[in-house]
Amino acid sequence: MSTQNPAKPLHGRVAVISGASSGIGEASAEHLAALGAKIAVLARRAERLDDLVARIEKNGGTALALAADVTQAEEVQSAADQVEAELGSADLLFNNAGVMLPAPVEELRTDQWRQEIDVNITGLMNVIGAFTPQLVKAAGQRGVADLINTSSVAAQNIFPNFAVYSGTKAYVTHLSRHLRVELGPKNVRVAAIEPGIVGTELQDHVTDQGAQDWLAGSKETMEWLTPEDIAETIGFIATLPPRVNLQQVTIMPTGQPS
Ligand code: NDP
Repeated sequence: MSTQNPAKPLHGRVAVISGASSGIGEASAEHLAALGAKIAVLARRAERLDDLVARIEKNGGTALALAADVTQAEEVQSAADQVEAELGSADLLFNNAGVMLPAPVEELRTDQWRQEIDVNITGLMNVIGAFTPQLVKAAGQRGVADLINTSSVAAQNIFPNFAVYSGTKAYVTHLSRHLRVELGPKNVRVAAIEPGIVGTELQDHVTDQGAQDWLAGSKETMEWLTPEDIAETIGFIATLPPRVNLQQVTIMPTGQPS
C-alpha cells in the first residue's frame, strides 16, 4: 500500500460498471480508469462500449466491453465469467443500469412498468447474482471490495407520476442497506447512491408529455448535475480506507428542492 501511486489509488482493482454505454456509467468508467482500475463495461449497445474501451485504452487504461442485457441472467453470468477469466475477480461493482419511464398510473402503461421493474430490479439482481461471488472472493484476497448500487432521490421523496420508478429505487436503497449488513463482515462495502436530476439520456426515453414538461421546466430553473459529478463521487466512495463504508449518498443539484 505505501508504494502506491497517489494519482492511481485504484491501481490493482477490477471494476465492473453496468449501464456504461451512456450517462453516469460511461463517465464513471472513464473516471475509475483514470484512477487506475481495470474496467469492464456492460450494456446492450456494443458499439458505444467499443468506443468507450478504445478511449480508455488510448489514455493508457485497460478495459473490456461486455455486451449484455441485464434482464437476461445467462448473458450477465457469461459476462461475469469473462471478467474473471480476462481481468481477474471483480472487486468493484457499480450496479448502475436503469430506466425511468414516468406516467400517471391511470394511463396503465403496463409495458413501461414492466420495463422499469425488469431493468431496475430484476436486472440489478441478475448483476448482483453474477458478481457477488467475485466480490467476496476478491475481498477475501485483497481486504476490500465495493458494491455500489445506483438508486435515486426518488427512493426517498414523492414525485407525482413517478410511482413505479420511485418504487424500484426504494427497493434498491433498502436492498443495499440489507446487503451491507450481510456482506460487510466479509469486507465487501455496500453503498447506495441517490442522485437528484443528472443530465443524461435517461430523460430522452420519457414518453409522457406531463413528465417531459416538468423536466424541461426544471432545466430552466436549476443547473442539473453532470454525469462527471456522480463519477467523482463513485471514485470517492471506492478510494476510502477499507474500514470506511459510505452507506448512502444523496447527491442533489444545489437548486433542486426535493
Ligand atoms: P442513461 O440512459 O444515460 O444510462 C442508462 C444506462 O443503462 C445505459 O448505459 C443503458 O445502456 C443501460 N441499460 C438500460 N437498459 C439496460 C438493459 N436491459 N441491459 C443493460 N443495460 C441497460 O441514464 P443515466 O446515466 O442517468 O442512468 C444511470 C442510472 O442512474 C439509472 O439507474 C438511473 O435510474 C439512475 N439515476 C439517474 C438520474 C438522472 O437524473 N439521470 C437520477 C437518479 C438516478 P444500453 O441502452 O446500451 O443497454
